[in-house]
Amino acid sequence: MATETITTDCAIAGGGPAGVMLGYLLARAGVDVVVLEKHEDFFRDFRGDTIHPSTLEVMHELGILDAFLKRPHQELKTLGAEIGDEFVEMVDFTHLPTACKFIVLMPQWHFLDFLAAEGKRYSGFHLRMQSEVDELIKEGGRVTGLKAATPKGDLEVRARLVVGTDGRHSTVRKLAGLEVEDRGAPMDVLWLRLSKHPSDGSESLGRIEPGRFFIMIDRSDYWQCAFVIPKGGFNELRRKGLEAFRLAIVELRPFLSDRVREIVSWDDVKLLTVRVDRLKRWYRPGLLCIGDAAHAMSPVGGVGINLAIQDAVAAANILAGPLRQGHVTDEDLRKVEKRRELPTGLTQALQIFVQDRVISNVLALRSQPKTPFVIKLFNRFPYLRRFPARLIGMGFRPEHVLTDEATAPADKPSSA
Ligand SMILES: Cc1cc2nc3c(=O)[nH]c(=O)nc-3n(C[C@H](O)[C@H](O)[C@H](O)COP(=O)(O)OP(=O)(O)OC[C@H]3O[C@@H](n4cnc5c(N)ncnc54)[C@H](O)[C@@H]3O)c2cc1C
Repeated sequence: MATETITTDCAIAGGGPAGVMLGYLLARAGVDVVVLEKHEDFFRDFRGDTIHPSTLEVMHELGILDAFLKRPHQELKTLGAEIGDEFVEMVDFTHLPTACKFIVLMPQWHFLDFLAAEGKRYSGFHLRMQSEVDELIKEGGRVTGLKAATPKGDLEVRARLVVGTDGRHSTVRKLAGLEVEDRGAPMDVLWLRLSKHPSDGSESLGRIEPGRFFIMIDRSDYWQCAFVIPKGGFNELRRKGLEAFRLAIVELRPFLSDRVREIVSWDDVKLLTVRVDRLKRWYRPGLLCIGDAAHAMSPVGGVGINLAIQDAVAAANILAGPLRQGHVTDEDLRKVEKRRELPTGLTQALQIFVQDRVISNVLALRSQPKTPFVIKLFNRFPYLRRFPARLIGMGFRPEHVLTDEATAPADKPSSA
């Protein structure tokens, strides 16, 4: 089959939140970009679905928030947990100094569809689906492009800059020889869905029982459930059988007894192998990694998408100018790493603290947990709920869009 060769300013490998957002921001700023995504669509079940106030603020700055909020979604203003028989409300987003004082729950494919539609309004935005990046082009010690396999044959993309946004199992970072530091995680997460009945109530919450941690997220007509297990514990669970697993869910949430049989086989249960890692260096000449490709995040706090978006905003702020001028230096790439290293490191440190000090302890419990005194304070002093809200909702050093809209968008309404 023939090889197609194209030339662009920036080739982005991976059409997840980081890649599509970066493509959109750069195209908006007058840079020509090609985003390559290996799948034929954005549909993947049980991907991150939580859009936090920091990401919504970015959309507000871009003037696309109202259009985004017209899409079907749920809003989460507070978060709480049931510890044994006691309910503690621990997070309250309603006081954040942001346009949206809530988390939006929306399937990730709708979010990506929305961003891609916004990107396509600019002539410089090119999204290539079914294009799997499998090789980097290197010349004189510099990455100058990439190659991808498509149903129509090989695609070669020559670019001033290649950005790896291909997620936690990044091919790009492997091909570039970037070294990964594993930070460890004591747990894995099983995701599943169960139907929601009108009499269920609508509160998304976590439940902590001896050795178990169960989270239910209200998705309007179904519950998205996360069952936290000790690292590597999935095989043991499977050995005990599906019925024992269904029973464990009923013990945690008796009202689900009438529908646990919706879990027909283990195919209905998706294992998320939790990883926390970070690249020692995020770049090499001509290439940068951001998002999960640079730092896989723990699911603690549900911040993965939002960190990916923050990386994309910072990268666009720093790189749009050099890309337009035709040359990106190592120093430009170093600035992106430097800008994002601290917020990423602090977030991961906090996640590791919660994993090691809270989740590991819960998973090791053999008797009914008692609510720790510090946690009880959240019920006594509601003001305290604002601190975790700020950390989860906005993160450390939130990014702001500094790039201007350099090209006129096509004559289409926002998010057509
Ligand atoms: C089961 C699960 C549940 C999660 N829940 C949450 C949550 O509730 N909230 C949250 O914030 N985060 C959650 N996360 C994490 C979140 O999904 C990620 O942190 C976030 O999507 C990272 O964005 P990204 O763009 O960096 O990478 P990804 O979203 O992983 O996107 C990478 C993209 O690159 C594509 N790709 C991979 N290899 C290639 C290649 N060789 N060529 C071309 N394309 C390629 C992939 O198909 C994918 O579309 C969850 C993750 C998982 C797996």
